[in-house]
Amino acid sequence: MKAARIIKPKEPLLIESVQTPKPKGSQVLIKVMSTGVCHSDLHLWEGGYTGPAGIIMKVEDRGVKFPLIPGHEVAGIVEGFGEDVEGFGTGERVLVYPWIGEGLCPACRVGEENLCDKPRSLGVYQDGGYAEYVLVPHYKYLVNIEEQSMDDVASLACSGLTSFSAIKNASVKPEEFLVIVGAGGLGLMGVQIAKALTNSTITVVDLDEKRLDHARKLGADYTVNSSSKDPVKEVNDLTDGLGADAVVDFVNASKTVGTDMNLLRKRGRLVLVGLFGGSVELNLALMPLRAFKIIGSYTGKYTDLVELVSLAKKGVIRSVVSRRFKLDEANDALTQLKEGKIIGRAVIAP
Ligand SMILES: [Zn+2]
Ligand SMILES: [Zn+2]
Repeated sequence: MKAARIIKPKEPLLIESVQTPKPKGSQVLIKVMSTGVCHSDLHLWEGGYTGPAGIIMKVEDRGVKFPLIPGHEVAGIVEGFGEDVEGFGTGERVLVYPWIGEGLCPACRVGEENLCDKPRSLGVYQDGGYAEYVLVPHYKYLVNIEEQSMDDVASLACSGLTSFSAIKNASVKPEEFLVIVGAGGLGLMGVQIAKALTNSTITVVDLDEKRLDHARKLGADYTVNSSSKDPVKEVNDLTDGLGADAVVDFVNASKTVGTDMNLLRKRGRLVLVGLFGGSVELNLALMPLRAFKIIGSYTGKYTDLVELVSLAKKGVIRSVVSRRFKLDEANDALTQLKEGKIIGRAVIAP
């Protein structure tokens, strides 16, 4: 099969022919129809995340091994399966839950495989969807998608699920004021999910007017362009000087989080989602005095993905897929994402 592989960080992906995996036991082979291009793929390609003082936290130190076929937002068709697979047949349209754990740790035992101590995520720790076929280790990770569009559904597995889980973690009530920071793929999905699940008042902060435009169309009540306006002043004006009940930061960089802390009212929740990275200085006395909560949120669990797919089926949320690339164009897709040229989501259709 044809696959795009990261051979070494920072070097172009190699598009080459590799062995097509053969499913056995509970494994399922999926013919890939659409794979979302995610910022996490960029981090893999670049070899790490930015930590405090600009130090790179290498993915290889966290168990990632190269060469690797990236791609964790995979929608496709069941092509073949092992002898123990039940309830799935060839030709069925499925979305893959990629946040696979080893199954035994405390997180896995309560169904939070995305937070497994020994993660085996597809497209991160094992080969993913930048290929014609992907091997899924167990049929329990598949979600039926019936007639839904492969392109639209693919990004639910990461960007959609991450947004969904983050908004849930913010525990926002209908009468509350929510700030969403960053109107990229995650943020735009977050706006729709927040609108559908919480019915709160939503304000979106971003630097780019086009993205903010999109956010308004998808249901944001207010937007703040932080390149020309001070988000703290704007949010204070909108909340009678009280601040936001919750801030969900889909960027999560030193600069945005520094501001986030000043957006919160007492009992405010700050949910950190993005993987831009960096560090912040905390005003420690304010933490208890204002009873803030800081919550880290990483992807989501399988049952949330099932719920999200059904929300998408009802038309409550829509993915914003703006570009389609061929497998041969994997390097272009990642480069354009890196340069901020993609609005919403790009997909690779092998
Ligand atoms: Zn586990
Ligand atoms: Zn992702």
